[in-house]
Amino acid sequence: MSDYKKPLPHPTPASKPFWEAAKRHELQIQHCGSCGAHIFYPRELCPECLAPDLQWIKVSGKGAVYSFTIAQQATHHAFAEEVPYVIAIVELDEGPRLTTNIAGCKPEAVRIGMPVVAMFDDVTPEMTLVKFRPA
Ligand SMILES: [Zn+2]
Repeated sequence: MSDYKKPLPHPTPASKPFWEAAKRHELQIQHCGSCGAHIFYPRELCPECLAPDLQWIKVSGKGAVYSFTIAQQATHHAFAEEVPYVIAIVELDEGPRLTTNIAGCKPEAVRIGMPVVAMFDDVTPEMTLVKFRPA
């Protein structure tokens, strides 16, 4: 058992491929075979054309900070020793936006539009979280 104490995601049938790819240190999102849209978060039908024709594809992991906030107070007691930390929305080069954390730099160095790249935090043997760091 891991001694990781923070809340962890609960993969669903729709999101399981995302978490399995993260474990391999790959960022994968869905791509619609019908209209070509790139899709995140994971789901069963394309939000653009409603086709069920979604495939998982590996993406570059490159993007830019779309928006962010610096948490000065933990949003859950398990994060108390992490503050201050950055909760950000990253817009991938492929288009979709992910809510994530920015790591690898001081919180006050984060800027809107800052180029970032995905990184993988193996928090337990079963779970790898996707975060971003300055590119
Ligand atoms: Zn579509």
